[in-house]
Amino acid sequence: MKPILRNIIHTAQDIFLNVLLPKTCAGCGKANESFCEPCRFASYKNGAQCLICGFRDNTGKICRSHLGVKSDFNQQSIEIGLRRVIWVGNYNGQLKEAIWQLKYKKRKELAKPLGELLYKKFHEIFGSPTYLGSRTSEAKNFVVIPIPLHFKKEYERGFNQAGLLAQEFGKLSNIRCLTNALVKTRETKAQVAVENKEARIKNLDGAFEINQKQFNHLTTQQFNNLTIVLIDDVSTTGATLIHASEALAKAGAGDIIGLVVAHGG
Ligand SMILES: [Zn+2]
Ligand SMILES: [Zn+2]
Repeated sequence: MKPILRNIIHTAQDIFLNVLLPKTCAGCGKANESFCEPCRFASYKNGAQCLICGFRDNTGKICRSHLGVKSDFNQQSIEIGLRRVIWVGNYNGQLKEAIWQLKYKKRKELAKPLGELLYKKFHEIFGSPTYLGSRTSEAKNFVVIPIPLHFKKEYERGFNQAGLLAQEFGKLSNIRCLTNALVKTRETKAQVAVENKEARIKNLDGAFEINQKQFNHLTTQQFNNLTIVLIDDVSTTGATLIHASEALAKAGAGDIIGLVVAHGG
């Protein structure tokens, strides 16, 4: 089926479902909203912290003290290009519910309010869009890349929630979104099902690869100078972001910002 036709059918399905099943707020159940303003407000936490130790840092930098231990995986994470991770709020309450409904109740319309929260957070930390140049032209030094699902999982779910979030964020920030830039090469256990931190890191070893074709429009130098905004719905230990960054860094990416909806879990 042609992609355009498929999109038309999906849009028609969405309209049809919205008429049959009026939406309610994922956080509080209020009618005719997907994620209402008070729930969005309650989900949002100001500021940023080091992903590893929780130290408050206004740019979400992973702090320098983690550079000390050579054998520490976190040390490696800094060398592999993941320098900052920022998140909208904690993985609980209304925010957890909204992410859960997006993924498991397949409420794709929730990607929009959650994408807006991602943009709000990005804007809070990195300031007005002057960093991107003109709002009317594309931000050339940035790309948005979602954490991929394994194709079997994406097929089962029908979509990749991180991909939807990345597209919404890309629209708002005017940053080009490369939806298939990373590929998950093997199925892994859900990170929450893996007991400890070491096992979680091992669980994802070599699970991500870069899809070079998505970067063909860039020279090597342009690629090296990119700031990559890596999007995911939830981050717990950061292991997924670290492994995905590793795949990007192997290809020469230097600066990667992790931007996730919720931290914890
Ligand atoms: Zn609500
Ligand atoms: Zn730290």
